[in-house]
Amino acid sequence: MKVKPIIGISSNQHERVLSLSVDYVEAITTNGGIPIVIPNFLEEEDTLRIIQLIDGLLLSGGGDIDPTFFGEEPQQGLGKISPERDTFEIAITQKMLKLNKPILGICRGCQILTIANGGDMYQDIYTQAENNLLQHTQHAPRSHASHFVRIYEGTKLSGIIKKEKFKVNSFHHQAVRILPKDFQEGAISSDGIIEAIESKSHSFALGVQWHPESMKNNPESTDIFKAFIQACKINIS
Ligand code: MN
Repeated sequence: MKVKPIIGISSNQHERVLSLSVDYVEAITTNGGIPIVIPNFLEEEDTLRIIQLIDGLLLSGGGDIDPTFFGEEPQQGLGKISPERDTFEIAITQKMLKLNKPILGICRGCQILTIANGGDMYQDIYTQAENNLLQHTQHAPRSHASHFVRIYEGTKLSGIIKKEKFKVNSFHHQAVRILPKDFQEGAISSDGIIEAIESKSHSFALGVQWHPESMKNNPESTDIFKAFIQACKINIS
């Protein structure tokens, strides 16, 4: 019998409502995993139990990250933050990586992966990045691939998506700035914004700045989820 891996997906909370786009759930089920949605606050020992249970963690997208977590004060361009969610996601990310369990970070999740490992980020690329920026907060429909990214040769991402350049959707005004030690850039946009990061020392810790879960029938998105689920199968029989 083929055993499917269990994938924990982090969620968002607004007032008393937990939320998560079904796109994340479907991306896991259609690519061979069993999704379970994790709330964004748990006692530490309960987090450890969840980590024992899951074979991989998908850090979902959402709002901005409290700059306190990377040693800055809030700038004017910072949007809505949820510090409890940041605290929980940073903690569960660090604990997962300690056990070398796979993580896929999407958009905000790419930044959480960065901050949890000691990197830093732009609070708002439009006011902080020096380049003449593209539109990274697209007005086109969610599934529309709007700007190009270029994958770096020799990265794990280049082994997953066997293309040098392709288009992605884009719904972010924050982005990774300084990578953590032992991480490398996986992909970059033409204006120099880091669009993917990956760990050099873990079996699978990948962050993408775009939303592959929202692009149906997109071969590069399928490649990412298939590779993630495959990595999550390694420790189960
Ligand atoms: Mn972008």
